[in-house]
Amino acid sequence: MERELMRSEKLKVVGEMSAGLAHEIRNPLTTIRGFIQLFDSKKEASNERYYNLIIKEIDRVNGILTDLMNIANPKLSEKPRETNLELLIDDLLLLHQSQMKKKGIEVNTYFHGRLPAVYLDANKIQQVFLNLLQNACDAMEAGGRLTVSTSYRKQEEEIVISFADTGIGMDERTIEKLGTPFYTTKESGTGLGLTTSYRIIEELEGTISVTSKKGVGTTFSVHIPADEEKPEEKTGTDD
Ligand code: ADP
Ligand code: MG
Repeated sequence: MERELMRSEKLKVVGEMSAGLAHEIRNPLTTIRGFIQLFDSKKEASNERYYNLIIKEIDRVNGILTDLMNIANPKLSEKPRETNLELLIDDLLLLHQSQMKKKGIEVNTYFHGRLPAVYLDANKIQQVFLNLLQNACDAMEAGGRLTVSTSYRKQEEEIVISFADTGIGMDERTIEKLGTPFYTTKESGTGLGLTTSYRIIEELEGTISVTSKKGVGTTFSVHIPADEEKPEEKTGTDD
């Protein structure tokens, strides 16, 4: 089954609330982290393990707060630049190569033809791809195959990037809930990865679709409108 996953209104409200809260929590947390680091300089060897654990956990909370703030404000943080999506995907896969190999995950990429130029914030789109990659890996604890493919659909004027895994898959109930903030089936999941991803793609006026079958696998497809022109040129100077 296929479903389109955009629940923008609900996300907006939840996002704004969470971002406010996240901001309030982040400030004292920064103070705490700073003071703990101060102790570090005089730390006893026996305390090192606790120290490392505390810092690690603070950083984890910080990561969650960043996700929360991104839901509310996925506005492009950088000026859109011409982005080579294939290169971005290759780099991402390279970065996670050894981690995936360890899990027994085989990776394939299919770049169908050349994609038209896209102008976007590479950091944001990378965050989306990373979320999809991480979810695929989580779904293949016992190994499997990840297939990443890109294509340009001329008729629809969109670029499609798909992450297909041969993992545990999802039942219909889970698919229905995707994108709901904090919805997770994982023991240490945040349930914010997809929420953030949907918001980022929505900001680009794109969509994310999913097909999944329990016990067979899942494919997430990111659809991005193909912008032929540079954003600056849209206002129409005749060069
Ligand atoms: P998290 O990864 O922290 O759980 P996400 O928003 O990234 O949060 O994902 C929400 C839930 O969607 C996951 O807990 C999982 O149940 C389901 N899910 C997402 N991607 C996949 C996938 N590729 N295969 C199976 N289930 C998935
Ligand atoms: Mg995730």
